[in-house]
Amino acid sequence: MSTRTVRYALISTIATFGLLVGSASAASAAPQASKAPKASKAPVSFGAGGLSTSSDRPDHACLSGGDSCVSSDPKVSLAWSSAVSTAGCRFRVVIDWGDGQAAQTAELGGSKDAKVWKVGRNYPGGVAARQAYRITAKASVLQDKDKRGCSIESAATALTLMCTPQQLSGPAWNTRFPGGQSAVELLNDSFRPRVEKFVAAMTNAGITVRPTSSLRSPQRSYLMHFSYRIAKGQISPAEVPAYVPVGSEPAPKVCWQHRTKTGKTDTQASVAAARQLLGALGVDSALATPPALRSRHNTGDAIDMAVSWSGPSVKIKNAEGKSVRITSSPQDGTNARLMAVGASYGVHHFSPAAVDRNHWSSDGR
Ligand SMILES: [Zn+2]
Repeated sequence: MSTRTVRYALISTIATFGLLVGSASAASAAPQASKAPKASKAPVSFGAGGLSTSSDRPDHACLSGGDSCVSSDPKVSLAWSSAVSTAGCRFRVVIDWGDGQAAQTAELGGSKDAKVWKVGRNYPGGVAARQAYRITAKASVLQDKDKRGCSIESAATALTLMCTPQQLSGPAWNTRFPGGQSAVELLNDSFRPRVEKFVAAMTNAGITVRPTSSLRSPQRSYLMHFSYRIAKGQISPAEVPAYVPVGSEPAPKVCWQHRTKTGKTDTQASVAAARQLLGALGVDSALATPPALRSRHNTGDAIDMAVSWSGPSVKIKNAEGKSVRITSSPQDGTNARLMAVGASYGVHHFSPAAVDRNHWSSDGR
């Protein structure tokens, strides 16, 4: 009679061998008598890496052993191993992968040689699936031919599926959804001529005009909106909804929730990354409201312009050709008289003006 305990580990396919997560407590009652070497003492060893390499592979903290695994690889396996013969044994494992799906059942046949059995799961690779999973596997002996003492351990482990560096929020997203161009030429055919005339009138009056953003993709609006709200502490990174694409348009699949190397949510890192992205997107630091998710910028009906002048007064022609003298302050785009001149051209400043000091559009929205 011999005891044939099958042990388990969680492994990930990036390094096919050696990602040991933990060992389970013995679940099945194995007969006491044993002449052969005890399988439960057999080393769980899947290759050369071993347990000592954990610090070299921060994306595979699973190597560190214990009962948890932190990885950015959504392909994982639970593995059972036996260092001795399990001939005549048959096992069943019922695995709940912790993702709300029905439990998976697998049968493991015995082997006269040492063997590793793997049952794999591919979690979705997308951002939405980057979370913590509680994995449990109930193992049982289906057959113990000749009553030789087959046994198998049940498993329980925690997997934290990390976002990849590519998915994580940060300034790199600025170039993935362009549309932050400032050119007046990008405005639509209805709005562009009005802006051109207003800008010409301002320039002729000695007013400095610096367009900063005109046409903007809705994806970029999404990035601006939520990086602003996270940076200002208005929304938890975990609560940011995914971008809802219209038709077949590409979606920014950005991971707003940063985590520590041990898989804990890291609000500080999430806020810092959102702040960096906000700056990279060219959002005005004085903006007092989140950039709109859908705005006049998306249709070429809005332009952000930094407007300023010095000196006690300026004289500017309105659309009717009348000369308007401006002596009041502030000497920027939020000046009430300048806004009235803009309106005469059909270029309306955002209201209240101080909330978005550079935003002009076809209807003020
Ligand atoms: Zn704007």
